[in-house]
Amino acid sequence: MPTFTTIGSTRIARTHRASCHCGGVVLALDLPDGVENPRRCDCSICRKRGAICASVPLKRLRILQGAELLTLYQFNTRTAKHYFCKICGIYTHHQRRSDPNVYAYNVGCLEGVNPRDLGEVPTSDGINHISDRQHRA
Ligand SMILES: [Zn+2]
Repeated sequence: MPTFTTIGSTRIARTHRASCHCGGVVLALDLPDGVENPRRCDCSICRKRGAICASVPLKRLRILQGAELLTLYQFNTRTAKHYFCKICGIYTHHQRRSDPNVYAYNVGCLEGVNPRDLGEVPTSDGINHISDRQHRA
């Protein structure tokens, strides 16, 4: 198994660290296949947050430091769990509503990675969320 994958010249370690801006919150992400499914989203929170997100199964994200600094934000159906650092306000990750077995994480928090290296990133149709469609149907 290689110990890293690459995006352009940027190395993504098999276990890559991610951190908030103040450095209080540090996550370890197991990314054997690199940054998977990176995307922007136009749902009500993502359009204001502006972060590029990617996905990992729950067990591939561990909080190394700063769990006490993470603040939980929930809204609407209160299914998704959105976490941000209470010191610097940076969104780090959330447990997804459409698939609670998956965390989405802020690609911009990956240490040493410039999200620009991802190139053009697709935008999910979050405003027409699958759960909302089911509620309407
Ligand atoms: Zn912080």
